[in-house]
Amino acid sequence: MRKTVDILGVSIDSITMDDACEKINGFLEGGETRTVFTPNSEIIMAAQRDKTLKDILNSGDLVVADGAGVVLASSILGEKVPAKVSGIDIIRKLFADANPFVSFFLLGAKPGVAELAEQKLIQAHPGINIAGTHHGYFDEKEEDLIIAEINDSGANVLLVALGASKQEKWINENKSKLKAKVCIGVGGSLDVFAGKARLAPEFIRKAGFEWLYRLIKEPRRFKRMLDLPRFMFQILKAKYKRRR
Ligand code: UDP
Repeated sequence: MRKTVDILGVSIDSITMDDACEKINGFLEGGETRTVFTPNSEIIMAAQRDKTLKDILNSGDLVVADGAGVVLASSILGEKVPAKVSGIDIIRKLFADANPFVSFFLLGAKPGVAELAEQKLIQAHPGINIAGTHHGYFDEKEEDLIIAEINDSGANVLLVALGASKQEKWINENKSKLKAKVCIGVGGSLDVFAGKARLAPEFIRKAGFEWLYRLIKEPRRFKRMLDLPRFMFQILKAKYKRRR
């Protein structure tokens, strides 16, 4: 049975990284296309303003706590999830496992980035199978062709890196046409694998200050990041309401 925690109306799986990866491996054996979403506090706040996004997140077959803020929120609400399980860490583990039955299609990021990510990933994990790539700047008219390309590639895991909310909506709209068994929304991960963007050092990620690192590196995110204090305020409000 699925154990979930409600964070401002978004159901988050209470799961460890290993169990999340095991679940994804299980999805690969199923008949349907399953969805994996990785909301952080910013996305949960976006879902407060966008009911469609909230419904899509709640329809996910696996929805993990991507970020220290979500883990802290679960703890404040009294139902602490066991760990932060970020999208990039999930796919890193899937790449490292190099299961010969898994083949990936990388969809998203600027032209050239997915191909560069493919090259670097193959260098780092010689056993992995990347069935195809496509950039993320296409218009609706091209979509059917891109979906055909993904399906023809034979990939069973589709990594969708179109940025938060766009990727969840794209997956939801197209999952019935896709043959891949698992679609994962992975934000800016392809930029990281291509070496175009850097993750915060491990000790900063572990300490829960990745948001501060990103803010310093990408000050244009400042407006978006104002959602972080708003998120904590909403969580404290929800806790107070539950107590009464
Ligand atoms: N992106 C894309 N198509 C678009 C908009 C964005 O492929 O129409 C890509 C963008 O190039 C970047 C990723 O989506 O690689 C978004 O990265 P970001 O770090 O902003 O992710 P988020 O924090 O929004 O999940």
